[in-house]
Amino acid sequence: PIYLDNAAGTRLDPRVLDAMLPYLGECYGNAASHTHVYGWRAEEAVARSRAQVAQLLNCAGEELIWTSGATESNNLALRGLIAGLAARGRRVLSPRTEHASVLAPLRDLAARGQIELGLLDVQRDGSLDLQAFAEALRPGTVLASVMWVNNETGVVQDIAAISAICRARGVLLHVDATQAVGKLAIDLSALDIAALSFSAHKLHGPQGIGALYLRREVRAHLQPQQLGGSQEQGLRAGTLPVHQIVGCAEACRLAQLALPQERERLRRLRDRLWQGLSQLPGVFLNGHASAHAPQILNVGFEQLPPLALLEKLSPALAISGGAACSSAQAQASPVLLALGRSREQALSSLRFSLGRYSSEQDVDVAIELVAQALRQLRSATAAAPA
Ligand code: PMP
Repeated sequence: PIYLDNAAGTRLDPRVLDAMLPYLGECYGNAASHTHVYGWRAEEAVARSRAQVAQLLNCAGEELIWTSGATESNNLALRGLIAGLAARGRRVLSPRTEHASVLAPLRDLAARGQIELGLLDVQRDGSLDLQAFAEALRPGTVLASVMWVNNETGVVQDIAAISAICRARGVLLHVDATQAVGKLAIDLSALDIAALSFSAHKLHGPQGIGALYLRREVRAHLQPQQLGGSQEQGLRAGTLPVHQIVGCAEACRLAQLALPQERERLRRLRDRLWQGLSQLPGVFLNGHASAHAPQILNVGFEQLPPLALLEKLSPALAISGGAACSSAQAQASPVLLALGRSREQALSSLRFSLGRYSSEQDVDVAIELVAQALRQLRSATAAAPA
């Protein structure tokens, strides 16, 4: 099948694999071993990797904590900062359309009575109403968590404006940038972001590795959530997976090299896909007409049986109805419901997500496959007795 599910996972770039291989072979030292060359080599590789990731984000290497991915980064940032800020206040704010790895820990902390959680509605185009956001940052608010690019709709939040609002109110901002890193230009030196999360496997790196950026000034407020050795300045204990780290860094380096051209190429592919799909009967866009990431397109189709289109397409087209983590259940996406879609509309929506290996031909075939499937389903529906 044609793979258009890059928001769930991307193909490992062969150059990333090449960079990783020595660290799965002869370079097996522990980066925390300071008494021999095996350890020194591993330590050097980690330091070089840190600098490469820092370059993509324009931050300092020591502001990065290696994690097992965005889920862990989100949990560490939220749980760690909330614990560290408890004396200042307990109100935390987040949009309803965040990823489960943000919402679940926040809901857990709220259920335990450790925070007062404010969940913000979004507008029908998926964007945050900035005035409503500013008003919701009432006294006692210590932390806001807002994703940069929504993983289901591709909607881009105005993080520059949001970070300025947070700064003015003295509220720390955590950003889940999992779908933004390597796709949009990110300059952490120009933004007041306290913490930022991502995973390497969304940008053609390996699974199971990511990082949490933690602004230098904020470090003292983070309570570590995993204790043990003194790795990562004591903020995240555990032997560093050097091959994964090297792979993550190479993925970031390659993304940075290609970023402006690749962003335009993906944008053109996405436009081509929408151009083709928008001609089909009963189609609607889930998301924002202009504030969207270049790689994600979410479209719905009116009046179809739930999941019918997705099921019909799945032998030929690898796409999804929403987040991979929830796509197994016939549950309407909370993100699409938050955009004002009905349950039926949400369950007949498709997420297409493009990557480095997506081509014009993939897009054209996808359009044709959807058109065919739609014709079949509509004639079946029309033929069915009322
Ligand atoms: N946040 C967002 C926006 C995501 O898209 C994902 C991956 N679906 C995650 C967090 C979690 O990433 P991981 O599964 O690599 O921990």
